[in-house]
Amino acid sequence: MSRKQATIIGLDLGSTTAKLAEVFFSGDREDFKLRLLESRILPAASWQELLQEARETRHSIIATGYFRKKVTFAALCPTELTTAREAATFFVPGADVVLDIGGQDIKFLDLRSNDFRLNDKCSAGTGAFFDFVASYFHIPVTDFSTLHFKAERHPELNSTCTVFALSEIISRLVDGYTREEVVRGLNNSFGEKIARLVPPCEKLALVGGVARNLGVVRVLEEKTGAQVVVPENCQLMNALGAAIFGWKKL
Ligand code: ADP
Repeated sequence: MSRKQATIIGLDLGSTTAKLAEVFFSGDREDFKLRLLESRILPAASWQELLQEARETRHSIIATGYFRKKVTFAALCPTELTTAREAATFFVPGADVVLDIGGQDIKFLDLRSNDFRLNDKCSAGTGAFFDFVASYFHIPVTDFSTLHFKAERHPELNSTCTVFALSEIISRLVDGYTREEVVRGLNNSFGEKIARLVPPCEKLALVGGVARNLGVVRVLEEKTGAQVVVPENCQLMNALGAAIFGWKKL
């Protein structure tokens, strides 16, 4: 690995949020320092503000994510496949598979074989599904973890489509299930569906915004039988991976 000192900005312009990681590399792993700025909701002025903020630092900028090509002043624009590999190798040593559940898609990267799979065809396996249900319940999606662990039972929810899931949710509420129980049911069916797609592995690095839903993490652990590791700053992994990539390449 490169030994040079540098400060690099990793920008992850995802489909739902924009993330910025400013990382100071001092040469040794032990001296690795990072500073994270909050992720901001796309689209609109805040997005441009984030880019401006990055540019004003005058540090090298590495852009990744769905909208990476919009950063015309980026030194490099690696794909999320590359940045996920960099970040997982650094923050989750020994991981076999990286699972990234974002706002609009879900990505699997098998680090052993380098196989990569993307599912962006169906919103039911992404953060958009939770955002949709959260807005129906008028609660922030960030409450989905707490609500999950408040419920002691949950209904079976089988719909694989976001639109049909809503009518199923309404039916379960009419059956007498509470909102907490329905949320637990949703986390459960979501986690079960995703677990079926995960290649057999011992150690799974779970990243992306949905990794902050601890209910989903618990279900994935149970259903895959793997050790599921959610790195700190899991939603910023691709931004961090971009900075690491830049440090090696520039
Ligand atoms: P992208 O990179 O595609 O923009 P992210 O990886 O930033 O997506 O993930 C965004 C999704 O993460 C949102 O759609 C939301 O459902 C989910 N999310 C973000 N924070 C939390 C949280 N604290 N708890 C549960 N879900 C969350």
